[in-house]
Amino acid sequence: MRRTVVIIGSGAAGLFCADGLVTRGDVDVILLEAGADAGTPPPDWLRRDLATPDDADWGLVDADTGRPLLRGRITGGCTSTNSAAALRGQPWCFDEWDIDGWRWDDVAPAFAALETDLQFGDRPGHGSTGPIPITRLSFGPVDTAFAQWAGERGHEWVEDQNAPGMLGVGHWPTNTRPGAVRYGVHEALLPRLRPHLRANTTAKRLLFDGTRCVGVETDTGTISADHVIVCAGSVESPALLLRSGIGPAADLAEAGIPLVHDAPEVGANLQDHPWTVLQIRATDPAAPALRPVNGVLLRYEILGDDRVEVHLYPHQAQPYLPDADAADVFLGLGLMRAISRGSVRLAPDGTTEVHLNHLGDPQDAKAFDLLLDDAQAALDALGDVLVPPDNPWWQDRNQLPDHLESYGHLVGTCRMGTDPGAVVDPTLTVAGVTGVSIADASIMPASPRANTMLTSMMIGLRGAALVADHLSE
Ligand SMILES: Cc1cc2nc3c(=O)[nH]c(=O)nc-3n(C[C@H](O)[C@H](O)[C@H](O)COP(=O)(O)OP(=O)(O)OC[C@H]3O[C@@H](n4cnc5c(N)ncnc54)[C@H](O)[C@@H]3O)c2cc1C
Repeated sequence: MRRTVVIIGSGAAGLFCADGLVTRGDVDVILLEAGADAGTPPPDWLRRDLATPDDADWGLVDADTGRPLLRGRITGGCTSTNSAAALRGQPWCFDEWDIDGWRWDDVAPAFAALETDLQFGDRPGHGSTGPIPITRLSFGPVDTAFAQWAGERGHEWVEDQNAPGMLGVGHWPTNTRPGAVRYGVHEALLPRLRPHLRANTTAKRLLFDGTRCVGVETDTGTISADHVIVCAGSVESPALLLRSGIGPAADLAEAGIPLVHDAPEVGANLQDHPWTVLQIRATDPAAPALRPVNGVLLRYEILGDDRVEVHLYPHQAQPYLPDADAADVFLGLGLMRAISRGSVRLAPDGTTEVHLNHLGDPQDAKAFDLLLDDAQAALDALGDVLVPPDNPWWQDRNQLPDHLESYGHLVGTCRMGTDPGAVVDPTLTVAGVTGVSIADASIMPASPRANTMLTSMMIGLRGAALVADHLSE
């Protein structure tokens, strides 16, 4: 019997999930996307720029600070608006999840399957036939000087940052091709998925008969489904569950939403990588443009406990801030192992409310302070290449909260696990109901100490197989 599967969200995970199911040929797939279809080839802003147009973004803010929280609202989701850093998580990140079927040895084949690594595709653990091209770009003068400083400070040179367990300085892996800043799903997956795609269609809530999901209410009508896969990302996936009556019973009662299943952890456990940039200038005004972004990356552990990993890397400011001078450089600082937890909730008016709680835990604040020390050491040593402004804000650490942003790596709001509190089980089935799965960044129990696009794609790819197995039971 043919089944109808509705997938909500055409982002990093949703596209891989849809592709896996469409390729099987025995289910009818309907792929919903709230934003527009960017098209193939995508427009110049998507391929060449890193500043996102307002209509391709959800327009969210961190409810506690009021600072913008970018989230892509377009085919490709955040992959269409991100920086095209294509970094895998560390093996121990997945082993720490401690879930059968999701340890490093289980997920590594999916990372290889989704890539064509242009330098290392023929090496064990890499792939040469997947849809996402991954490459490493030549360094510009700023990258070279930064890499030399990192080496002199004792950091190992890393040839391949995507080899398991690497820490040190090397090239950013990036999903880029000549002539494009980002290259990925629009070229590789969307052409064959377009017949299934309904863009500009927002899922409002899941429809239930008792605890069995029977379809989706959208802003353009209702769609019946045998199975629904929620791939709306770490903000909208929990929000959609809450609007559908799956969430903390007391909160739903207060919001006047009929309860389908009491799931206290929906929207809890939000994790992100706190991030900031130090805006400086290159002494050679032509230097930053020679490798604007995705040149050099330094990743290392700044606190031994909990393997607290950090990122430090320079890039040109202009791709993100079109009004910046060509000589302006951002030194990026990311805390890749944060233990603070935020949340996604529904505001009293029913809109989605995000609380990031960056550096809420003292360990995170301490790690970020040490990272700022290291960034200052880099600037002190690189005075011939990079000059800070007069009286930079980072000389007064009290100003950090005003400059702290999201690295864009939100995960964990529909946590996978085997315990009673988990929102989905290891087959990605939502607990307490039937006919609904979640396959996106929200299911990660903990963040992978890396940028989260590849891990989200891995989840989508594996999610297709898990749902297919479930449907054939
Ligand atoms: C500014 C920014 C920069 C980033 N940089 C990088 C980077 O360089 N490298 C990296 O690895 N990671 C990066 N990330 C993170 C990475 O892009 C995300 O982790 C990844 O895209 C998450 O995949 P996802 O499928 O869970 O969600 P998304 O990719 O966000 O996809 C969710 C999709 O669902 C749609 N949707 C949501 N709600 C609904 C609804 N109700 N109805 C229909 N459709 C809906 C959205 O519009 C979106 O298209 C960045 C993120 C941001 C925001």
